[in-house]
Amino acid sequence: MTLRLFNTLGRRLEEFVPQRAGEVRMYNCGPTVYQPPSIGNYRTFLFADLLRRTLEARGHRVLQVMNLTDVGHLTLEAEESGEDKVQKAARERGVDPWTITREIADLFFRDLKTLAVRPALHYPKATDHIPEMLEIVEGLLAKRHAYAVGENVYFDVTSFPGYGRLSGNRLEDLEAGARLERNPEKRHPADFALWKSDPAHVMKWPSRLGPHGFPGWHVECSAMSRKYLGDTLDIHTGGEDNIFPHHECEIAQSEGFTGKPFVRFWLHSKFLLVEGGKMSKSLGNVILPGDVLSRGFNGRQLRYALVRVHYRQPLNFTWDGMKDAAASLGRLDNLVSHLRQAIQTGSAGSGAAAGEAEGETLAAKARSRFDAAIDDDLNVSEALAALFDLAGEVYERRLDRAGAAKVLDLLRSADSILGVLEFEAPPLDADVEKAIADREAARKSRDFKKADEIRHRLREGGVVLEDTPQGVRWKRV
Ligand code: AMP
Ligand code: ZN
Repeated sequence: MTLRLFNTLGRRLEEFVPQRAGEVRMYNCGPTVYQPPSIGNYRTFLFADLLRRTLEARGHRVLQVMNLTDVGHLTLEAEESGEDKVQKAARERGVDPWTITREIADLFFRDLKTLAVRPALHYPKATDHIPEMLEIVEGLLAKRHAYAVGENVYFDVTSFPGYGRLSGNRLEDLEAGARLERNPEKRHPADFALWKSDPAHVMKWPSRLGPHGFPGWHVECSAMSRKYLGDTLDIHTGGEDNIFPHHECEIAQSEGFTGKPFVRFWLHSKFLLVEGGKMSKSLGNVILPGDVLSRGFNGRQLRYALVRVHYRQPLNFTWDGMKDAAASLGRLDNLVSHLRQAIQTGSAGSGAAAGEAEGETLAAKARSRFDAAIDDDLNVSEALAALFDLAGEVYERRLDRAGAAKVLDLLRSADSILGVLEFEAPPLDADVEKAIADREAARKSRDFKKADEIRHRLREGGVVLEDTPQGVRWKRV
């Protein structure tokens, strides 16, 4: 089984092998914590989670870092001017920026829980890493990749021949397409700010460069990824709008500074649209996870709606689509209940009776189709099709307990990636030992029915008992 991922750098599918066996260093661009993240942002964050879960299912340890941008992201992104997004939100609410970032970060972590996202190793905030950013700024100045104009520092794109490789932009075209009102401090219109000075900026830090400085947005990710994951990352993700200029600039800064390759795999998810159009505050069509929950859907259903379409395919959110997602997840829930009932009673299903071997064959067939789809650049829609076809096949038969357990095991393993189903909580080790003792006692008093029930209950929770001459052994599936 080999996992293939679409690398934006080179624009092709490549077999993914981490630089160190068994360990993946992954950095995900996280939210700018100035307004509640929308379901569009969560499409991108859930894609990162799906990738992390896939890598874990393939046996890798994933060192995952997602940043919180709490300074330096300006309202006029393209021109690198305007107000700091956090500061603007603070001004409009009449509070200080830290109140805003704390509030939004809390909301973000609550949403991540609701959406069953596995927590990253670190969620660094930009404002906690100013010295690491200044180290890069100073280093780039020393290497003449950057120049200072007063207290502002810019990256000199002409000093970095690889600039444009990720996005396919050429410096000549960027120059020709530059706006007329270009920033006179920049030598080339594509040069970008590493460090800016503004006495009116609320969040600012004194440095050798001057008293009122704050970092440019791009240098934040270069500094935080390097601090937690080292000079070369295996994977860096973001939404498609991050490719240019954000990620193009990150490469120039990081490689200019360290002299080493920055990222091996760049992965980008496509934007989520709402009713076919862009989601934006000015159109008043921004949808938050809370809006979906308040219409009666739950976190699992929303997660399902956001991950079921391949991350490089457009995803158009509509309320009808949301209903459809909930119904489709309901079919998988029904399959789980059906199998649990079969394990408990041995009698679910109306078709012709089939034994353990058949359950195993069905599960194996679905598993290889599911895994092949996921390994094909996380093709979730095809992976789900494997599960729906499996459901059809299960309902045509009457699986015995062991056969049903095999199919349930497959669903459990598929769900370690999808994260949308609900199973009995697996029993704790101590509970398993207790149940085994109870079963032994039942067997001694010749209550075989009870002994059997205990075995099936454990099986449903993913624990298999094996009677050996040395006594009972158990394992989790
Ligand atoms: P921001 O909070 O604007 O910095 O965005 C955080 C992440 O969400 C970035 O990786 C963006 O590319 C991504 N993103 C923003 N809007 C959308 C959207 N409508 N669909 C998918 N991803 C998005
Ligand atoms: Zn970033």
